[in-house]
Amino acid sequence: MSKSHTLQSLIADIIRVFHLWPFIAQTGIYNFFRHKKHPETLLYLDVVITECCTLKCRDCSNLMQYYHHPENLNVDETISSLRILLKSFKVNRLNLLGGEPFVCQENLAQILVFLNQEANDRVNEICIITNGTLIPSDKCFAAIKKNKKVTVVFSNYGELSSKQSEFSVLLKSNGIKYEIMEEDYWWDCGNLKPRDERESIIQHRYDACYTRRHCTTLFRGKLYVCPRQAHAVRLRVIPENDMEMVDILKMDQDDAVSIQTAVYRLLDRKERIAMCRLCGCNPDNKIPRAVQAERPIDDV
Ligand code: SF4
Repeated sequence: MSKSHTLQSLIADIIRVFHLWPFIAQTGIYNFFRHKKHPETLLYLDVVITECCTLKCRDCSNLMQYYHHPENLNVDETISSLRILLKSFKVNRLNLLGGEPFVCQENLAQILVFLNQEANDRVNEICIITNGTLIPSDKCFAAIKKNKKVTVVFSNYGELSSKQSEFSVLLKSNGIKYEIMEEDYWWDCGNLKPRDERESIIQHRYDACYTRRHCTTLFRGKLYVCPRQAHAVRLRVIPENDMEMVDILKMDQDDAVSIQTAVYRLLDRKERIAMCRLCGCNPDNKIPRAVQAERPIDDV
């Protein structure tokens, strides 16, 4: 491990142990150094390609359990929004996810081909986040194999991830990178009911939030700071708010300054977003992972 990496880990530990994130978020120091060290780069970008999933996780933090009529997203719209965004920003780690991305393999394959052919120098790493319940078709597997930046990341839910072993053997024998995330628990984000909390508590939740630092989300052509926010808008739990997202599809792809200004304004936003009032996100509240439920949940 390099000296700088050790120092970074030490700093991260100090921040976590002393609960310094809310203070750091309000000063803007983190984003200042992040933009300086990685200019015109999104460190993390979650690209949602489907609302459909093969599991019925009661506590999905991305709200899939609330969808009555989940859909695979329009692949042309997804690629168009990526094309616009990637003209102005590089991406360090691009996550392709759902729901379960292997539900719509045709779309997944098309997006991988686009990233390989048109954006290879704009994305450092591509991760496909799967629950290990499906095996890709030959066409989808070929697209994965061709794109050397791809890592398949399994969220291992034990017996529920019934195809994980078979899939990982296939990946290994073809020299494709994969990781298995062994999560013992999830964070409880709670239900979608508004919380009767003081404004300072809600703002503190946003300032401390891991998700908003790591899960910038591209969903239906719009960029959000938080996947819960993106899906809550889609589920009509909260109204769309132009000040809390960037409508990438409406931007001029040749106007990098406007795109970067709008995206940085979103990422650097200090005032909490509306969704934080309906979120119980707290890393200290641990719950069993992937508990299956009847779906959809009518809790809105
Ligand atoms: S709603 Fe707010 S606190 Fe909850 S995950 Fe999103 S940004 Fe974080």
